Amino acid sequence: MYEEPPWVFPRRVQGFVPPKVLQFMWQAAEGKIVVMECLRRRGADVEGEGVCVLCGLERETVQHLLLTCVFVSGIRNRIMRRESISWCVPGSVKEMLQQWNALCVGTAKELWEVIPYAVGWTVWLARNGAIFRAEEVSLEMAWDLHITRIYWWIQAANIDCDYSLHDFQQSF
Ligand SMILES: [Zn+2]
Repeated sequence: MYEEPPWVFPRRVQGFVPPKVLQFMWQAAEGKIVVMECLRRRGADVEGEGVCVLCGLERETVQHLLLTCVFVSGIRNRIMRRESISWCVPGSVKEMLQQWNALCVGTAKELWEVIPYAVGWTVWLARNGAIFRAEEVSLEMAWDLHITRIYWWIQAANIDCDYSLHDFQQSF
């Protein structure tokens, strides 16, 4: 029987992105994060029929939350416009991560490769904040946060970056 080769994160991504975020994205790629739809299927009594808290429009599945929700696609479309890329987002998180690196045109490769991890983690934290702490996160806040995260990760990895956070956000 054919077995898919094991899937690994690109080496550079492993050096940059915090382990907890890598673990989250791996689970997301394997469809193993516990979203509302999983709870609902297990018979849990989930609030609002398991509808995504970020858009309130569709049931929260892994694909919805990280690929098709208006929240995540709002961030992604803005990135695509900035880079002048047109891309039809694939149907799974794994394919999205596998295709992502090849899309790089303008941004430095090191930065480009970590974008989906920063976006995914930002969306996940926004979702958790909304569910567990009734926090409201706007698309604009999430946009700034995903760039801020990349900045923190660069700092933590001791990579030379002479920009202040503000300048980094402006010029990213
Ligand atoms: Zn949604």
